[in-house]
Amino acid sequence: SSSKNVFEFLELPREMPRRIPLALRQGGDWGELYGQFGEDAARHQSARCLDCGNPYCSWKCPLHNYIPRWLELAREGRIHEAAALAHETNPLPEICGRVCPQDRLCEGSCTLNDGFGAVTIGAVEKYISDRAIAEGWTPDMSKVKPTGARVAVIGAGPAGLSCADRLAHAGIEATVFDRYEQIGGLLQFGIPSFKLDKAIVQTRREILEGMGVKFRLGVEVGRDVTLDTLLAEYDAVFLGLGSYRYTDGGLPGQDLRGVLPALPFLVQNGRIVSGLQPDGKPIAGWEDQMQLPDLKGRRVVVLGGGDTGMDCVRSAVRLGATQVTCAYRRDEANMPGSAREVSNAREEGVQFLFNRQPLGLLGTDAVTGVRVAETRLGEPDEKGRRRAEIIEGSESVLDADVVIIAFGFRPDAPEWLATHGVELEPDGRIRTSGEHGNHPYQTAHPRIFAGGDAVRGADLVVTAAFEGREAAAGIAKLLRNGERRSVADAAA
Ligand code: FAD
Ligand code: SF4
Repeated sequence: SSSKNVFEFLELPREMPRRIPLALRQGGDWGELYGQFGEDAARHQSARCLDCGNPYCSWKCPLHNYIPRWLELAREGRIHEAAALAHETNPLPEICGRVCPQDRLCEGSCTLNDGFGAVTIGAVEKYISDRAIAEGWTPDMSKVKPTGARVAVIGAGPAGLSCADRLAHAGIEATVFDRYEQIGGLLQFGIPSFKLDKAIVQTRREILEGMGVKFRLGVEVGRDVTLDTLLAEYDAVFLGLGSYRYTDGGLPGQDLRGVLPALPFLVQNGRIVSGLQPDGKPIAGWEDQMQLPDLKGRRVVVLGGGDTGMDCVRSAVRLGATQVTCAYRRDEANMPGSAREVSNAREEGVQFLFNRQPLGLLGTDAVTGVRVAETRLGEPDEKGRRRAEIIEGSESVLDADVVIIAFGFRPDAPEWLATHGVELEPDGRIRTSGEHGNHPYQTAHPRIFAGGDAVRGADLVVTAAFEGREAAAGIAKLLRNGERRSVADAAA
C-alpha cells in the first residue's frame, strides 16, 4: 500500500542488508560484503524516512541527491521512477551507494541518528539502481537533441564517467580515453571487490555505451595521442586524471624486503581476484609475475588510517595473514576513513593501534618490525586537524613480516599540461574556476576543464562524480555560447 505509517522508524530498526559470514571472509572470500535488500526490507527501510522539511541528508550529500523523494518512491515500489530520479543528480548511484562513507555524509546527518539509527540511504540507493538496471531500465535519452559537438574525456574514473554521462544528456558526444583497458580508474584498480564487485563497473560501462558514450581504452594521452591532437579534433577536453603520486613518508628502512606500497599491493590483488591485468588481458602464469609475498600465516602491519589503509588490512585478512595490525598516528575519532569500514575491519580481526607514529622499519634484509612512538594530539595544523605530537620515551617495536605503507596520494599532473597553459596549484593540483565559476571547473585554458582527485587531491568517488557533473555543465554552457571549435575550424 502507499499509505505511510509515520512511526515506521519506531517499529522497524535500521537494518543493513545481510553480510557475508565472518568465517568466509577470514577464509578468503572476496565477494561484496553487503548483499542486497529483499523487496520488503527495501520498502521498510525506505519507509523509515521522516521526510524532514529540511532534508539535511540531501545537503550533506556532495551531489545533493533528492534522497527523501526517491526513498518515498522506493517505499511505494516505484523502482524505475526512483532510479530515474536518483540518476538525475547522480550518474553513478549504484557505485556511490556501495562506496560512499555514508556515516560521514548523507546518513551522518539523518535526523534519526538521534537514538534510532539513520535511514540506510546508501543501501537503498544501491538497491534502486541495481534492481531497475537488472529489470532493463536505462536512462531516458528520448528528449536529447544532438548538438554535433564532441568532447574528449581523459580518464575513465568516476570524474570522467560522470562528465561523459552528463555530456551525453546534453547532446554532446563524449569519447573517454584511458590508459587502461578497463574503465573505472580506482573503482576498477584500487577499491577491492569486497567493497565493489567489478561486474558493477562493467554494467555501468554498458549503460554509458548505450547512451552513446565512446571509449578509447588502452590509450595514454601524452604518449599514444597528444593533447594537441585532442584539442584539434574535439571542441573541448575534460581532464579526470586522478592523483597517484605515492607518499612514502621517507621512513628509514622502507626499501627492506616485505615493505610494500599500498596501491600496487591492492591492484595486484585485485588483478588476481578478477583474473585480469590492468591492461585488461587475462593473466597468463601470473604466479611468475607476482612480486607480492605470500601473506598466509604472516604478521602484517599497515601504516595509515585512511580508506586505502582499511582496504589493505581487510585484504591481508582475506589473504590469510594470522595477525593484522593497523597503526595510525592520531586517535580513532580523527581517522580519515569511513567508520563503517573501520568497524568491518575490527570485526574481521584487525587490531588497531591508535596514537602511534612510525619512526622506521627494522631488519637487515627483510623487514622484521616497525619502530613506533606514542603520540598525543596537539595544536591544529593549517588544515585544522590536530597534530600528532610524539611522547618522549614512548618508543616500542611492532613485530612484522610484512609492512604495507598507506599514507595517501598526491597529485602528479603530467608535464604536457603546462605547455598548454593549464595552471597548477602550488601542491600540484590542477587549478580550475571551481564550482561557482562562470564555466564551472574550467582550467586556465578555456577549452580544457578538469575535476576529481586531480583537482581536489585524493578524495572520494562522490566528490569526483560531482565535479565531473558540474564540469560537463560548464562545457555545455561554453559550447552553447558558440565558442565551439569544429574540426574544420581547427584544420583551417
Ligand atoms: P581515478 O579514479 O584515479 O581515475 C583516473 C583515471 O585516469 C585512471 O583510470 C587513469 O588510468 C586515467 N588516466 C590518468 N592519466 C591518463 C592519461 N594520461 N591518459 C589516459 N588515461 C589517464 N572513495 C570513496 O568514495 N569510497 C571508498 O571506499 C574509497 N576507497 C578507496 C580505496 C583506495 C585503495 C583508493 C586508492 C581510493 C579510494 N577512494 C574511495 C577514493 C576514490 O577512489 C577516488 O577519490 C576516485 O576514484 C577519484 O576519481 P577520479 O576520476 O578523479 O580518478
Ligand atoms: Fe549518500 Fe553518497 Fe548516495 Fe549522496 S551519493 S546519497 S552521500 S550514498
